[in-house]
Amino acid sequence: KQATSPPVPLDRPTLAGIALSSGDRVIFQTPRLTKAGLAEYYLAAAPLMLPELANRPLSLLRLPDGMAGERFFQKHPGKGFPDALKVQDIEDAEGSATPYAYVTDAAGIVGAVQMGTVEFHIWGARRDRLDRPDRLVFDLDPDEGLGFAATRRAALDLRDRLTGLGLASWAMLSGGKGIHIIVPLRRQASWDTVKLFSRGVAMLAAGSQPERFTAEMSKVKRKGRIFIDWLRNERGATAIAPFSVRARPGAPVACPISWDELARIRKASAFSTRQALDRGWADVVPPPPQHLTAPVIEALDR
Ligand code: ATP
Ligand code: MN
Ligand code: MN
Repeated sequence: KQATSPPVPLDRPTLAGIALSSGDRVIFQTPRLTKAGLAEYYLAAAPLMLPELANRPLSLLRLPDGMAGERFFQKHPGKGFPDALKVQDIEDAEGSATPYAYVTDAAGIVGAVQMGTVEFHIWGARRDRLDRPDRLVFDLDPDEGLGFAATRRAALDLRDRLTGLGLASWAMLSGGKGIHIIVPLRRQASWDTVKLFSRGVAMLAAGSQPERFTAEMSKVKRKGRIFIDWLRNERGATAIAPFSVRARPGAPVACPISWDELARIRKASAFSTRQALDRGWADVVPPPPQHLTAPVIEALDR
C-alpha cells in the first residue's frame, strides 16, 4: 500500500533551493546523521527556529568533515557561501565594518548546512537595531560533576529571582550541560544597561548563596558551583539558537522546555533531532518583550 517514492537523485539533491554536496558524508556516527540528514532536520526545524533566529547576526560552528574532523566558529561569511546566507556589514568599536551572516528563511539555514555548519549561535539583537538588545540570556554553566538536579534547581531559583524583579522568562535545555534562561526585552535599553543588569542579577545570586553560585567565569571559582554566565549579554556575544543541533556526542538539540516539564528532565542533552521535531515549542510560550525599567534596575541595589 506504500506510495512509490520519487526516484532518489544520484547527486546534489536540492533542499529549499540549495544544492547540497556530499550529502552522504557522515557528520555524527551515533545516531548516524549524514550531511543530507542534518540538512533535512534543519529544513523541518526552520519554521520552529526562524522566529528566534531570523535577522540576527550569527556565529556558525562549522564541522565540514563531521565530528571526527576539525571545528571552528565562523562569524564572517567566507568565499563560496550561498547567497541564501545573507550578509550585513556591522561596525565594530573602532568603526571599521565587517560582514556578518544572517538568515531570513529556510534556504539560509540549509545554505549554512551546505557550508558545514552544525551549530547556529545568535546575537541578542536583531540587525535593524543592533544597539538595542531584545533578548537577555542567563547561561547556567554547572561545574563538572555537579548533577543536573542542581542545575534544574538553579534555573527555577533564577526564574523566581527574575519574577521578583517583575520579569517573566522562558527556559531552554542547551543540548550540552546547562540551561539557558531567556528574558525577551523591549528594544529600549542599551547593551551597557542590559549587561549591567544581568551582571547584577548574577552577582546577587552568587552573593546570597556563594556555596551554590558564582558570577565569575574562572573554573577555580566554579568548583562545585554553577556559573551564572551573564557575559552572553554583550554586543557581539552569542548564545546557542533554539533547535540548533549541538556538535556533541549523540547530536543533541537545544530545546525550549516549560518550567513544569523541566522538573522531569534528567539532562540538558535530553532530546534528539527526531524528538526536537516532535516536540517543537511544546508548551513553551515566550513571554512578551519587557522593559528593564528604572525600578527593576534599582531593585538590584536593595
Ligand atoms: P553548555 O550547556 O554545555 O554550557 P552552551 O552552549 O551554553 O552549552 P557555553 O560554553 O556555556 O556553551 O557557551 C555559551 C555560548 O557562548 C555558546 O553557545 C556560544 O554562543 C558562545 N561561545 C562560547 N565559546 C565560544 C567561542 N569559543 N567562540 C564563539 N562563541 C562562543
Ligand atoms: Mn552554557
Ligand atoms: Mn557559558
